[in-house]
Amino acid sequence: MSAAGTGQVAANGILERTVEAIRTHGGRVTPSRLAVIAAIVDSEGHVSAEEIFERIQASSPDIHLSTVYRTLEALEKLGVVEHVHLGHGRAIYHLEENLHQHLVCESCGTIIEAPHDLTERLEMELEARLGFFTRAHHFSIIGLCRECHRREQGGGSTSPD
Ligand SMILES: [Zn+2]
Ligand SMILES: [Zn+2]
Ligand SMILES: [Zn+2]
Repeated sequence: MSAAGTGQVAANGILERTVEAIRTHGGRVTPSRLAVIAAIVDSEGHVSAEEIFERIQASSPDIHLSTVYRTLEALEKLGVVEHVHLGHGRAIYHLEENLHQHLVCESCGTIIEAPHDLTERLEMELEARLGFFTRAHHFSIIGLCRECHRREQGGGSTSPD
């Protein structure tokens, strides 16, 4: 309800909904939590803890990197933020509301956001058949995007270009 004091935090109400979710889960809405969430919203989600820290620096120079780490941890415990890994391990942060499965092209680095229900089906199968509970989106799926695949298929090794 109250304004976020952090400047150009526009977006489609996702900030407000996330703040509401914190309260629902019994958490307090502190300035550092607000700043971290706003930084993730502004970045559209693919930011590491260090990048979040850099974004916050301009408006809140009093928030240290260690605070950002602690804040992210607390927000994850509250269930409003989740980290996932892009490519070979880099952790980036998403608001829970925005979560999706990432497909990463290992050739050009393109990140494709796949609908969640694609991997939800896998999760349900694993649970039903193996009794294994997982959040499949925690790691991205590595592969080749359409363009890179086509290039590798077409750009044969024998014909000189
Ligand atoms: Zn994403
Ligand atoms: Zn992890
Ligand atoms: Zn590619």
